[in-house]
Amino acid sequence: MGATPAVPGESRGGAPATDRPRDAPSDQVLAERPDRSDREADGRAVTGAQFRSAFTAAPVGMLLATAEPGQPNVVVATNDALAQLLGRPSSELVGMTVPDLVNPLDADDIAEVLAGVSSGATRRGVWEHRVRRVDGSIAWARLSVALAGEADGRKQLIGHLEDVTEHRRTQDEQTRHALYDGLTGLANRLLAMDQLRRVLAALREQPGRAAILYADLDRFKAVNDTYGRDVGDRVLVEVAARLRATVPHLYLVARLAGDEFLVVCHDIGSDEDLHELVERVRTVLENPVDVRSGTVSTTVFVGASIGVSVAVDPDTGTEQMLHEAGTAMREAKRLGRHRYQVFETSLGDPATRWLQVERDLRTALAEDRMVLHYQPIVDLVTGRISGVEALLRMVDPVRGLVPPGEFIDVAEESALTYPLGDWVVNEACRQLAVWQEIARSGPALTMAVNVTGRQAAEAARSGSVLTEASTAGIEAGTLFLEVTERTLLGAADDVVADLEALTRAGVRLTIDDFGTGYSSLTYLQRFPVHTLKIDQSFVAGLGVNRRDDAIVAAVVALGAALGLEVVAEGVETAEQQAALQALGCPAAQGYFLGRPMPADDLSRLLVANV
Ligand code: C2E
Ligand code: MG
Ligand code: MG
Repeated sequence: MGATPAVPGESRGGAPATDRPRDAPSDQVLAERPDRSDREADGRAVTGAQFRSAFTAAPVGMLLATAEPGQPNVVVATNDALAQLLGRPSSELVGMTVPDLVNPLDADDIAEVLAGVSSGATRRGVWEHRVRRVDGSIAWARLSVALAGEADGRKQLIGHLEDVTEHRRTQDEQTRHALYDGLTGLANRLLAMDQLRRVLAALREQPGRAAILYADLDRFKAVNDTYGRDVGDRVLVEVAARLRATVPHLYLVARLAGDEFLVVCHDIGSDEDLHELVERVRTVLENPVDVRSGTVSTTVFVGASIGVSVAVDPDTGTEQMLHEAGTAMREAKRLGRHRYQVFETSLGDPATRWLQVERDLRTALAEDRMVLHYQPIVDLVTGRISGVEALLRMVDPVRGLVPPGEFIDVAEESALTYPLGDWVVNEACRQLAVWQEIARSGPALTMAVNVTGRQAAEAARSGSVLTEASTAGIEAGTLFLEVTERTLLGAADDVVADLEALTRAGVRLTIDDFGTGYSSLTYLQRFPVHTLKIDQSFVAGLGVNRRDDAIVAAVVALGAALGLEVVAEGVETAEQQAALQALGCPAAQGYFLGRPMPADDLSRLLVANV
């Protein structure tokens, strides 16, 4: 098309050489061949007949229009391609002005470009604009116009109109790619940070408080591992939709990466308002997500930990805010997940805190300053101690006993999880062997050991727990590994197989904190579970909250129906114990029945227990 050099037939090939540069009908030609005399030398001058047929047959829209300075540019000829592009027959187009052909929004700009060319002020004009097709649809066209010599002594414009709708669409697509997340359609990090920059800058004009909420899903990795990426993706899409629907319309919701989302709030009002907003977001993400895949519907629980950073100073850095919100988010996770935390300077850098805790742990392990305390588990029918739970503590030279809540998260995330876990199992088995030796008559004492998800998987795979158990000489079926429902949620199929091998070899599996996680019956089906441990939050509500009564009764009944042992945790009062007995709960532990204590103290109790 534009590659064919042409001069308008009506103004004949013999027009003065000085006019020639204006003759070319497209900007490409002008760009490629600025020097007309080259073409002359090539012997490629075009006759009027050739031009006419090239004009008519050109695959791009072409038009000729009048070019009287100060007068509207009236179309005098068009080709089929133009008629097609605009969806009108050529006969209708002739007589219209060129600006009439375009979208009214662009008409003034086009008129200006044309005036420049008509008056000779500019040699040619190129303009990308919208054209309105006769069916009302809008297409994007690229119009190039140049003076095309004269016809009957009048100057004419030649226009070349190319449909660039597809090209524009690709461009828009690219913009979308660059600024939006392909999966959820939310803004991406780039756009979010840009918006945050604007929001902060706006504080200069209008003082107030801006904030960002940084939400990280709590169990997303587990969902992905268990159900596959497909389900994972759908969960993300649902989370995105919930966030959008929950926060005010003008706040920007973005997906930063993976399972991390950001809400940019330009004006958060009071602390109350902020609290109310974050709680709303947290709660909405806490609700189960139903994912349908074919005929199978899966219910997934993710929940989120949310970090908040608030700014009043327009000079606050965007990266700094993000860092603060991230810090607060990780603190929320450390404090037990499914909660939110507002950044305060006292939080410091979590990375530093984690490193510190990890260092402390490593030293404590090396210096033999980890200890196990044991809490009795009591048979509610006989009143005797039937087992114990080993609970880990770190002995700090200054602070004394440090509870696991302060370091178990760090251990789980670090390489220490294996040596520490091995130490716990080893030590607990050694102690159990001693106690079983003391109480030889009667049913053998059991030992419950808490293990993290990674540890359970690794132990199951390597069989290390088995080795410990057998070398320690404990009786088969007396070592219980306690895992939480959340841990099991993340377990892949091979872990299930390994856990089965473990139970065949006599190690038993307890679901800890039952009722707080997913309490899905599929876990009980999928894993070789032996015992359910009713979470202490339900026990605390016994006799006070009818819902808790009902939940405890239901778990006891479930255990009875499925042939599972049931242990209630956190019994603090005689009333709670009585309530559990009335519900037929077979076993319990708690401060009322015995606090976690050093091995020596428990040894004395056991002697009395015999
Ligand atoms: P858990 O396994 O659910 O252990 C029960 C927790 O409740 C223990 O806290 C125990 O001291 C406490 N508790 C017992 N009776 C009562 C009561 O009547 N009232 C109240 N309010 N609390 C009671 P602890 O020892 O601080 O352990 C906290 C958690 O740390 C444990 O929860 C367990 O998940 C984890 N943990 C403890 N030891 C280990 C370990 O060796 N390895 C791993 N991976 N986690 C451990
Ligand atoms: Mg436990
Ligand atoms: Mg528990």
